[in-house]
Amino acid sequence: MSIQLSDVLQERKTIALGGHVHPDGDCVGSNLGLYIYLKEQYPDREIDVYLEEVPEAYMMIHRADEVKHCIPADKQYDLFICLDCGDAARLGFSEPLFRAAGHTLCIDHHVSNQAFADENYIDSEASSTAEMVYRLLDKEKINLHTAEALYMGIIHDTGVFQYSCTSPETMEIAAELMRKGIDGNEIIDKTYYEKTYIQNQILGRALLESILILDKQCIVSSVSKGEMEFYRAKPSDLEGIVSQLRLTQGVEVAIFMYELDTQQFKVSLRSKGKVDVSTVAQYFGGGGHKRAAGFTMKGTSHDVINNVCAQLSLKGI
Ligand code: 5GP
Ligand code: MN
Repeated sequence: MSIQLSDVLQERKTIALGGHVHPDGDCVGSNLGLYIYLKEQYPDREIDVYLEEVPEAYMMIHRADEVKHCIPADKQYDLFICLDCGDAARLGFSEPLFRAAGHTLCIDHHVSNQAFADENYIDSEASSTAEMVYRLLDKEKINLHTAEALYMGIIHDTGVFQYSCTSPETMEIAAELMRKGIDGNEIIDKTYYEKTYIQNQILGRALLESILILDKQCIVSSVSKGEMEFYRAKPSDLEGIVSQLRLTQGVEVAIFMYELDTQQFKVSLRSKGKVDVSTVAQYFGGGGHKRAAGFTMKGTSHDVINNVCAQLSLKGI
């Protein structure tokens, strides 16, 4: 069920926004889109946005330099709006602010969302959280900068309008955002396709080392902590690798993992549609969407592969 943003904001003088750990394009785009809008429309309120380090490519979005990366002592807000985040623990460092807030609202499209806030606006059919934020705003009052942020969110979670989550409504919203005067091509090139030299090198390595398993229906690749250090790569430098693996002909599921800490892996799953990978991720304590999900797991890379394969086999792969 939808909500009225003006009702939620009423009487709430201090407002914090936040999103999931390792923020991706939709997390940053939906947070900054709403933040820019609220700052302009509610100048008398104290409004802050809390996210982990924003990947360099997304810093072109207006007000990205105002994002706060730690919480001041004893800080409390009347309202905390949690965006693109399926459970409170995924908020990471901003979770205490969420817990302390007078009222909480969650806006999200993850099928694994646990409706953990006081008010929850959840739509697992929406392409992106940015699309859901757009629905809540007064269209006349959306300025160029809000439009840019929301467009970035949409293009990231739809793979530039290619994934099946792209609906006619998504395209209509993109068209409306274009009418606000955004340079859509620049946002797509600079935040989605452009890679640094390091990102390309590590992508190349991950593709070179990938292996086909489960009767060639599944492709796996992993990057160790040592390799991350060798390339001086941050986790955000690995974004896009799993999407490239998924494109392999004949493959139904792609698995990409990197070593977060010694013998602890962050695992990304992508599906072409036959397997609902969100159920696999949820089995291991993670979450996501039918075709894109993730979780973390302790053990060696072989342990991760064996465990995931056992689950995939149960699903007919
Ligand atoms: P990625 O593989 O790009 O990190 O994430 C794919 C999708 O799964 C995203 O929607 C992301 O929010 C979700 N996801 C990834 N890792 C986790 C996790 O550890 N827990 C939960 N709940 N969701 C995750
Ligand atoms: Mn999202």
